[in-house]
Amino acid sequence: MGEKDAVSLAKRIYEATPYELRQVGKWMYGAVPLRIRYGRDFFRVSSWLERSQWWPPEKMAEYQNERLRALIRHAYENVPYYRRVFKERGIRPSDIDTMDDLAKIPVLTKETLRTEGGDLLAANVDKRDLVCLSTSGTTGRPVHFYCDKRLEYADGDPFWWRRYQWAGCGLTIRRAALTAWTLPPKRGGRRRVYAYNPARRLLTLSTYDLSRKNVDTYAFALRKYRPKIINGFPSALELLVKYFTEAGMERPVMPVGIFTQSERLQPWQRDAIGDFFGCPIFDWYGMEERVVCASECEEHRGHHIFSEQSIVEFVKEGKWVKGQDAEIIATRLNHYGMPLIRYQTGDIGRLLEEQCSCGRGLPLMKLIGGRERNFALTKEGGWIPVTIVDIPKATKHVDQFQFVQREKGALTLKLVRGEGFSEDDTRLVRENLRDKFGDMFQVEIEFVGNIPRTPRGKIPLLVQHLRVEGE
Ligand SMILES: [Zn+2]
Repeated sequence: MGEKDAVSLAKRIYEATPYELRQVGKWMYGAVPLRIRYGRDFFRVSSWLERSQWWPPEKMAEYQNERLRALIRHAYENVPYYRRVFKERGIRPSDIDTMDDLAKIPVLTKETLRTEGGDLLAANVDKRDLVCLSTSGTTGRPVHFYCDKRLEYADGDPFWWRRYQWAGCGLTIRRAALTAWTLPPKRGGRRRVYAYNPARRLLTLSTYDLSRKNVDTYAFALRKYRPKIINGFPSALELLVKYFTEAGMERPVMPVGIFTQSERLQPWQRDAIGDFFGCPIFDWYGMEERVVCASECEEHRGHHIFSEQSIVEFVKEGKWVKGQDAEIIATRLNHYGMPLIRYQTGDIGRLLEEQCSCGRGLPLMKLIGGRERNFALTKEGGWIPVTIVDIPKATKHVDQFQFVQREKGALTLKLVRGEGFSEDDTRLVRENLRDKFGDMFQVEIEFVGNIPRTPRGKIPLLVQHLRVEGE
């Protein structure tokens, strides 16, 4: 049996059998050499990415412009939406020569994606080669879009792996992920809070079941599988660390790095998680639509934008700016099934002026906030990030919290009281709110038993019911 046959046999066994046999399939698959499992393309792209990260900015811009011209030609020839928009504005593909010409094309909003999704599909791409994904706006109405299957984030995505390499980790590293995946139930239908996949060397820990009661099980799983890196949502990692600390536990493993994503990492979370595990945190900025990705390197001076994949514009009052808070608008260069050109991410960020001390040419950015996630509207009409409030600093007795905005100038703060919470803590929270918000918001505190996670397992810091511009 050739290696390729072994791969497909292992995959067939995995897909066709009950849980126990699947484990056998995983072991078989795990024995297939990496080069075969990931495929030749993975290693080709991966070694190219190793070189391109050091390119000087001019060389990267040249590469991006070349890819942009090809994408624009493709969109004009094959995508009804772009053909129409170009015709309406009298633009020809040759008018978009470099990224400086991008402003000629209107911004693509989530609303347009929702209403004209069908017209954004390329006529020359087979729908079977696409995967349907979705994201939700502030109103909770999901927006569907398509991504090229071969670019789907998976273990085989060399971009995703590059950030592990920045922490000094190779492909065979043992990982843990604290995620919102549903794990197969145990025999008898009992819920499983962790599962180990030997093929991927991945320990999955469920975020849904994390509680004071079963924190021992999480420690046990971590000790047993000894992951060198841990992935997770900041809110889930923060809670895990809190429970470990309260139970008087030492760190169960010594990871070389912790990789956070999906939610904005707050400074207090970085401190709490990093201090407990005694390792650096590598934060990732990305989104379901996959138009931008950026990661911290070992210097932690900001997020390096993965320029090989997208052109990211920082736009304020219609102009590109550096060193100022601006809207993040991005074009993914290798997205052909449903090209997203000048996609309005709804996030606010800042392109940093300095080069990173690591020497990589990839530009640095800082995420300031997702308006739809973290910005609340004052009575006067100003947008203020709720992240300025630092409740974990005010008191150690709050387990979780979340702001909800339903009307201008007013916020509800949902609090899950932790052990030892008293009237004093309410006072400390109120003081912190007054310090930071002044008279900008009327805040009502509501004590709740728990804060539900979204279907994706996240706990947003702010649930915004007001309509946000650009949504
Ligand atoms: Zn760097």
